[in-house]
Amino acid sequence: MKFIYIKSSLSAALLFLIITGIILIRANGNAYISANNISNTNAEPILIIDAGHGGADGGAVAKDGTKESIINLSIALKLESLSKLFGVNPIMTRISEELDYPSDANSIALKKRWDQNRRLELINSFQNATLISIHQNKYPDSRPSGPQVLYAPNDESKALGELTHNMLNDTLCSHNRRVASPIDDNIYLINKAKCPAILVECGFISNESELSLLLNENYQKQIASVIFSSYISYINQ
Ligand SMILES: [Zn+2]
Repeated sequence: MKFIYIKSSLSAALLFLIITGIILIRANGNAYISANNISNTNAEPILIIDAGHGGADGGAVAKDGTKESIINLSIALKLESLSKLFGVNPIMTRISEELDYPSDANSIALKKRWDQNRRLELINSFQNATLISIHQNKYPDSRPSGPQVLYAPNDESKALGELTHNMLNDTLCSHNRRVASPIDDNIYLINKAKCPAILVECGFISNESELSLLLNENYQKQIASVIFSSYISYINQ
């Protein structure tokens, strides 16, 4: 006789998240990660959450004017809250849409360059870190939909990338035929990060029905849950 009936793979993912989270919290005892430390000296695992774009760089823009950067931040903040709930205190590369630029960054190109360098310096100041960058996809054709995870060119990033991609597909988008792939050489942050690094394209803002999902608070929470669950699974391997 079955006492628990898991009616969807999302329920299974959330159950897994809760169980692994409890195990992690117990295993770590009081040794929670402090976000106040700018660099960690005893190399405890650090989760770095990067909400892609922001400030002068809105990223891709949907037909209705929705900026990718706003969705990225909203999902990243949910991932942060969820991480804290499970005793993981992540480092955020940004926590607002506005960024304070130095006065000599007086063009959009200079602002972007300064911001990318700032993020990279922060990311590479930690030992034993894992970088998860949140983005949204856009395509000229409005039909493509579904998440895709891109990973830095090394085995650890590939392992996390494939795990996260497969879990996103299993829980949120079972019809998705895209696969986790190595990231293009020209994506600065992911290629220059010294730690395992993935970029999660959560979905296509060029697809009208997926855009409304990506703007939905509950769907954003589901994405954050799956990403966090993948991270926990990855660091406990
Ligand atoms: Zn982007």
